[in-house]
Amino acid sequence: MFAFDNSYARLPDRLFTRLDPTPVAEPRLIAFNDALAAELGITKPNNETLANIFSGNEIPDGAEPLAQLYAGHQFGHWNPQLGDGRAILLGEVAGRDIQLKGSGRTPYSRMGDGRAWLGPVLREYVVSEAMHALGIPTTRALAAVTTGEPVFREAELPGAILTRVAASHIRVGTFQILAARQDIEGLQALTDHAIARHYPDADGPHGLLTAVVKAQAQLIAAWMSVGFIHGVMNTDNCAISGETIDYGPCAFMDDYHPQTVFSSIDQMGRYAYANQPQIAVWNLAQFATALLPLMPDQDAAIEDFTALVNGFADHYQAAWLRRFGAKIGISDPGPDDAELIGRLLSWMVETRADFTNTFRALDSVDLPAEWQKDWQDRLASEPDPAATTAAANPAIIPRNHRIEAMIAAALDGDFAPFHALNEALSRPYEDPEDRTLKAPPEPEEVVQATFCG
Ligand code: AMP
Ligand code: MG
Ligand code: MG
Repeated sequence: MFAFDNSYARLPDRLFTRLDPTPVAEPRLIAFNDALAAELGITKPNNETLANIFSGNEIPDGAEPLAQLYAGHQFGHWNPQLGDGRAILLGEVAGRDIQLKGSGRTPYSRMGDGRAWLGPVLREYVVSEAMHALGIPTTRALAAVTTGEPVFREAELPGAILTRVAASHIRVGTFQILAARQDIEGLQALTDHAIARHYPDADGPHGLLTAVVKAQAQLIAAWMSVGFIHGVMNTDNCAISGETIDYGPCAFMDDYHPQTVFSSIDQMGRYAYANQPQIAVWNLAQFATALLPLMPDQDAAIEDFTALVNGFADHYQAAWLRRFGAKIGISDPGPDDAELIGRLLSWMVETRADFTNTFRALDSVDLPAEWQKDWQDRLASEPDPAATTAAANPAIIPRNHRIEAMIAAALDGDFAPFHALNEALSRPYEDPEDRTLKAPPEPEEVVQATFCG
């Protein structure tokens, strides 16, 4: 069914612990992503086998299950050991990781139960697939199952497991733990592995850092362009591949405000919408620091790496301008256009404009007269502004209140809203048949906080 090749399992074994998922009582398949399975060359067995495999009850041939070791800075504080506390990597198919999330305790679980409940599993399924459909690099969702076992959070809740597909699960924190332990051999092996897997043209640590800085700059600019707030940009949630990873308390903004925060644990607003580029730079500085022990001339490397990390700003500005230029119909924006975009954003803050819908229908919004005029003047030299905006401004995003409603229905045994939401979000640049999917929340529907799960 799967053609596994497990390159991570061939790395030094101190980078992980081999262990199987903990079996569950009564696995039931909620969803299987046929399109993604086809992309990976996975042949589809019957639903019972799918439920058994994606619950961890049955280990597919060729899998070499393991939990990965990593460390990380959480909200700026160093945690010397994290690791997959509730995830198991089954192995790699077509070069991509197949990982079960919520699959039981591991040596890295600390106080956690190793499990996930249904809400966050459905949330990650919907949001990660929506991100993919939006054209933003992301981990994917291959399957979701319920376990038939309860999970205890603020209440007793149904357990579930998500199967996540990723270019890899190598994080800044994976490098950090080896650097902190002065495990130079391990660090070298991981660096070679990451280069071979993600940036085969990169030359050593310098080349890897260059490529990762660029990938992160493009990723964060893409997030900003759809109003996405990751919510927990710790260094262990920053993937070297440049994919969005770890859909915990993430959310899309409704009203535009740069200081928007949803995560219930982000009391200081460290990971607010507008802070995301600076936080990415902070994370990249940690990555650069972790690569330093590989460099023979430390002083020269510090200078070189500092310049590379600071290079984020230019990559980000260029990517941001391209994205936001396209959002107002400018296909090849220049430096002057940043001012025009900035004025629109300031007006959107003042008027509490809905981020998604305002851009989607900018030509029918009641804009300030002066801005409107400058905008029309600028568009006069554009070949096809309507086509540019249509491709840059989604009609629908996974709005919080719809996700919450979908989860509430699923807890009542009704998975139809989950499937409907997924289906609509797979074509985000088309106006959905169900027009209510475009509507911002009514005041009583507004979701104030999101949780890690
Ligand atoms: P996150 O903030 O989601 O990146 O999680 C931080 C760390 O906590 C990771 O190492 C997770 O594996 C671990 N973790 C989160 N939830 C659980 C859980 N329920 N049981 C065990 N470990 C967990
Ligand atoms: Mg994480
Ligand atoms: Mg998480």
